[in-house]
Amino acid sequence: MVRNYYKILGVQPDAGKDEIKKKYRALALKYHPDTNNNSKKAEDQFKIIAEAYETLSNKKKRAEYERQRAYSSSSSKSSGGSNHSGFGGYGFGGDQRSRSSRREGPFRADGTPPPAEEFRPDPNAPTSGFDLQFMVDVPLPVMALGGKIPYSYDKYVNCAYCAGSGQDEGKDCSHCKGKKQVVKSVTIEIKIPPGVADQYTIRIEHKGGDGKNGGPPGNLLIKVCAMPHPRFKRVKNDIYADVEISHELAEHGGSLEVETLDSKRTIFVEEGTLTGEEYRIPGQGSAILWGQKRGDFVVRFRVDTP
Ligand SMILES: [Zn+2]
Repeated sequence: MVRNYYKILGVQPDAGKDEIKKKYRALALKYHPDTNNNSKKAEDQFKIIAEAYETLSNKKKRAEYERQRAYSSSSSKSSGGSNHSGFGGYGFGGDQRSRSSRREGPFRADGTPPPAEEFRPDPNAPTSGFDLQFMVDVPLPVMALGGKIPYSYDKYVNCAYCAGSGQDEGKDCSHCKGKKQVVKSVTIEIKIPPGVADQYTIRIEHKGGDGKNGGPPGNLLIKVCAMPHPRFKRVKNDIYADVEISHELAEHGGSLEVETLDSKRTIFVEEGTLTGEEYRIPGQGSAILWGQKRGDFVVRFRVDTP
């Protein structure tokens, strides 16, 4: 027997990819084990929905399925009603079996799913991947002006060898030992927004662990941790820099080249400058509110005493 995947998803046999996806999402949401107290029956339901979607959303698989269906309908008079374990043993698709053992099957005779609480959990149900959270040290200039930083981390991904099925020719996949997933190290570039605050969490969708059995991937949460800088200190949107000047320069005044966050500026040191006095360069500090405007760069003089 071949299950009627169209009926399971509630679409017509000529339904397009988008419609199939839409129906699948709605059903997957409804029967997700998390929203059904991990009910076994909801998970069974979930599995079958996923199986239907996996088949109908893939051009190749769908063609093969159509072929099987055509074959099955032509020979069903002799084999109909038997428990075809090759399709998981849920008995869906054969009216005779569905009617006689309705309580075992996740679907009713007419193909409509029974209430979620009637289902049992199923290890093959699609489950979302894990959300991952990391604290990442970010240099002060990158936090102030934005930028990209490479970051490597480990996450669970679907085993490429068995395509996340855990099975290889009827046995546990030798690569993932039947666990369907393996740990993989990945490197991404994290986009740091200009002017981001310390401890801010950046959410990167779908970069968490892979989902199992066709479930969606988790998200990646990056907590920005400000690294101390040897010369600069950030106070809100302003950047402070302690600059040592000679006793002579402080006494007589003169020009001085200072390094700001992203450039060099020549400033004028006034005659009789004392330690602790400040020189403010407008618009050379940290970005404000992730935008183009910037705070000030503040030079704090420290006079070198002879
Ligand atoms: Zn595997």
